[in-house]
Amino acid sequence: MKSIKDINFKGKKVLIRVDFNVPLNHNRQVMDDTRIRESLPTIMKVLNDGGSVILMTHLGRPNGYESDYSLTPIVPVLSTYVGRNVIFTRDLFGPKTFEVCGKMKPGEIALLENLRFYPEEEKGDEGFAKELASLADIYINDAFATSHRNHTSVSTIVKFFNGNAYFGLLMENEIKNLDRILYNSTPPFTAIIGGAKVSTKFGVIKNMLQKVDNLIIGGGMAFTFLKALGGKVGNSLYEEDKLDVAKQIIQEVMLKGVNLYLPTDAVVANGFTNEADIKVVPADDIPDEWMGLDIGPKTRRRFAEIINNSQTILWNGPMGVFELEKFRQGTKAIAIAVAAATISGSFSLVGGGDSVAAINQYNLADQMSYVSTGGGAMLEYLEGKELPGIAAIRKAHNEDVRKNK
Ligand code: AMP
Repeated sequence: MKSIKDINFKGKKVLIRVDFNVPLNHNRQVMDDTRIRESLPTIMKVLNDGGSVILMTHLGRPNGYESDYSLTPIVPVLSTYVGRNVIFTRDLFGPKTFEVCGKMKPGEIALLENLRFYPEEEKGDEGFAKELASLADIYINDAFATSHRNHTSVSTIVKFFNGNAYFGLLMENEIKNLDRILYNSTPPFTAIIGGAKVSTKFGVIKNMLQKVDNLIIGGGMAFTFLKALGGKVGNSLYEEDKLDVAKQIIQEVMLKGVNLYLPTDAVVANGFTNEADIKVVPADDIPDEWMGLDIGPKTRRRFAEIINNSQTILWNGPMGVFELEKFRQGTKAIAIAVAAATISGSFSLVGGGDSVAAINQYNLADQMSYVSTGGGAMLEYLEGKELPGIAAIRKAHNEDVRKNK
């Protein structure tokens, strides 16, 4: 399939599915415009070629039309970045939209109102898809973070473009970097998986076990593993109903010869607040009434050493309750270790809300080889699942859905 880098969009009308699901503050101002900035290479490529751009996105989870979810706050931010007026249509299918989109000239850009004001968006509705498709000649999907959703503007719409459907540059980059992790990693390969629960990361851990040399587990989920190994976890978060899953992973780790690293010491607290008393204890011998909220200093050093000796590094999920100042050190240590390894030549990929927030907080994002924009989408891709938004475009070009497998 052609890259959009090799297509000239002169005189073409291009409908681009972006993910502008940005956080807004109480005054409805955009708090973090990363997602808007990430889409600019694709948007500017079409505009600079002399094409016109019609953007569509969702924002939040409105229940029908709710003014709080209107895309109006995005318009001034986007206008500044693209250096021109952004035509905003308040209605997806009103006569105004068809009139405006019908008259668009080369170099013009329009933003359609929130797709999720229409329940058809989440239902894969063919009529809705056809109507959206009638606005443009070419479709581009640049919304990686939404590509795991089987939604109308993400997948159903593609067949109405007769093969004139492509990945945007952000999407291309995500696929390239995630495929490097999945199919082309240089050993030693270390996956660092943290976060609250085994249940949400089980699929990724299972698929990664086929690829990695080292598996580091931190965060709340480590306690389910420690408990499965007979440890005492006190009041720490653990999933009783996932003990079997943890045992199964431990067994598979042994069969595959993967090195599994669990915390050996933990920062424990007698409450889930910054004001709680804290101390460091062995991670598998936590006193009753105390809960493990971060990895301890010995674990930090040990994990950093493994990371330092790795050529390929995947990181998803915090090592502790990173939101609270007192339990941030583990996540910070990992962020620094991954950055240091990357500077020494390793390939690192970081994804997931909290890990990305951590590297941003320590200004380390530029030190990583790649920071994924997808949370759920990235996890599903790494589980080896076929993402509807990617599969639809590959199918339109008669390509294998997972072509690099
Ligand atoms: P996830 O979305 O699964 O990556 O989980 C992120 C959440 O896990 C964050 O909100 C952290 O506060 C939480 N978390 C990490 N470590 C722990 C822990 N030891 N106990 C409780 N929650 C944790």
